[in-house]
Amino acid sequence: MSRAIEGIAAAPGKAIAPAWRGGWKLPPVAHRTIEPREVPKEVGRFHAARASALEEVRRLGAATLERFGVFEGKVFESQAMMIEDPDLVDGTLSYITQNFLSAERAFDWRILELRVGFLNSPHAMALDRLVDLEDVRSRVLGELLGLKEPGMSPEAVKGPVILVADEVTPSQAAQLDPKHVLGFVAGGGSRGSHSVLLARSLGIPAVVGVGHRIDEIAEGVTLLIDGGSGRLIVDPSAEHVKKLRMATERASERRARLVLRVGHPTTTADGVAIVVDANLDQPEEAQAARRLGARAIGLFRSEFLVIGRRSIPGEQEQYETYREVVEAFPKHGVTLRTFDIGGDKFPMFLSMPPDENPYLGWRAIRVCLDLPELFGNQLRAAVRAAAHGKLRILLPFISSVDEVRRTRELLREIQVSVGGEGGPVELGVMIEIPAAIETLDLIAPYVDFLSLGTNDLTQYVLAVDRGSARLASLYDPLHPALFRMYGRLVREAGRWDLDLSVCGELAGDPVGAGVLLGLGYRHFSVGLACLPEIQEVVRSVSCADLKAVCDDLSEAESGEQIRSSVESYLGTRDGFDGAAASSL
Ligand code: PEP
Ligand code: MG
Repeated sequence: MSRAIEGIAAAPGKAIAPAWRGGWKLPPVAHRTIEPREVPKEVGRFHAARASALEEVRRLGAATLERFGVFEGKVFESQAMMIEDPDLVDGTLSYITQNFLSAERAFDWRILELRVGFLNSPHAMALDRLVDLEDVRSRVLGELLGLKEPGMSPEAVKGPVILVADEVTPSQAAQLDPKHVLGFVAGGGSRGSHSVLLARSLGIPAVVGVGHRIDEIAEGVTLLIDGGSGRLIVDPSAEHVKKLRMATERASERRARLVLRVGHPTTTADGVAIVVDANLDQPEEAQAARRLGARAIGLFRSEFLVIGRRSIPGEQEQYETYREVVEAFPKHGVTLRTFDIGGDKFPMFLSMPPDENPYLGWRAIRVCLDLPELFGNQLRAAVRAAAHGKLRILLPFISSVDEVRRTRELLREIQVSVGGEGGPVELGVMIEIPAAIETLDLIAPYVDFLSLGTNDLTQYVLAVDRGSARLASLYDPLHPALFRMYGRLVREAGRWDLDLSVCGELAGDPVGAGVLLGLGYRHFSVGLACLPEIQEVVRSVSCADLKAVCDDLSEAESGEQIRSSVESYLGTRDGFDGAAASSL
């Protein structure tokens, strides 16, 4: 009989196929002690296993880079770093040399300790690295025990299937062929894991964090998954299957249509010009953003330069990177966001204090203003890159005018010291903390533009952790409190004549974009995957109609009510396919 299981929505899309209990599990590692004279041999075995594992990880990294691109190729760099991490290596060696444990037992023990450390870390990102740790564990132990993982090649899989496993490691995800494995479901895992990142690159849906209910999914049973809502249906009814088939066909026709229209003007049906820019997480994505018709880079996150690094990145390296992106968009340029570290992203060169509530802690502008070397390097590099095109500097996590004033002063000094080698830059702030909206009149005189970050604003307005799976249903960027704030913000920004864009994920959701257009927003910056869809939504709607829909929602009691009203309107337009977008 058909039954539903809820998990974490990790990679969007829907699929239906028989469940395949693939994956691979190492047998439990037996407790084995050694004689003191055997110590050198065990140490040697451990180092040899580590060396082979490292070689294999590097090979996989190179193959992934070739198959997917630079961003995905980097996934395996963090595993290589783990294999060489002194904490892991020295800890294992000490269990061999001092506790006389066999190499495999010593290594497994150390991994277990690190795993507990990751689980108890106050940084949400540590949870995302658990699958990498599991991958490293399997690889090194496989070497020590002489066991070889069967792999996920099309011959091994014989699809089409949906992979169901306790964990799906990045190594497994990188080998999947989307023609054979239409999606995956994992008992563990988190939204930000490398396995999920690879699922998104493959364009297959993924649902993770299903917990012990993963055991209810038997080999071969028909499984329907919706990676957008996190819902699975085991043994779906004929009605479910029909609904999905229709939605899938419509979605693929639509994708084909959208690709042909990339680069067409983004003007609404009632003639309002809307700016659609792209968000970048890596400089290598700039060319793809151009191909997808982005006007400019509306949000260039710079954290990739610091996360996972053991030292502060130098000014010259940053300058070259920023310049490369500025030059890729010679007409409208780049909005570079200064380091938004802390929260869920922490670099290794900062020994971050373990904040009780990292999202309410030492993060972003707070870190930068406290560390002049880090911030100064970045601002200098940005000012120099601005000599080659248009560059705007965007400050994240602003909660007071004092932070803006201090940055302005620093920027002024830097512009003087860089002299003729630099170019002019505009300075703007992210609106992602309620205090910034409340005190916009104080901040406005010091800034040139604003960018609305709906992801963080939602968590701070609703007191809901954006990464919490348990609270996911409460994390609603269309909650009436936010809907009203968005309205107030656009009116206030208009009073100060400030350019206001939206770079949070709400702008990349067709319904969210519809709401924002109805409220008066005219400038979006969205992830690459959302660009064609949002361009098309813009072309198909009328701002006047959406304004009327939103005016009627001023007393809406729930985000659902707001969503369904705008969704119904979009359903009447050509450019939107509600059936393809709706969840199961
Ligand atoms: C936001 O908070 O909406 C935003 C765009 O920033 P990030 O998701 O990088 O925190
Ligand atoms: Mg943010």
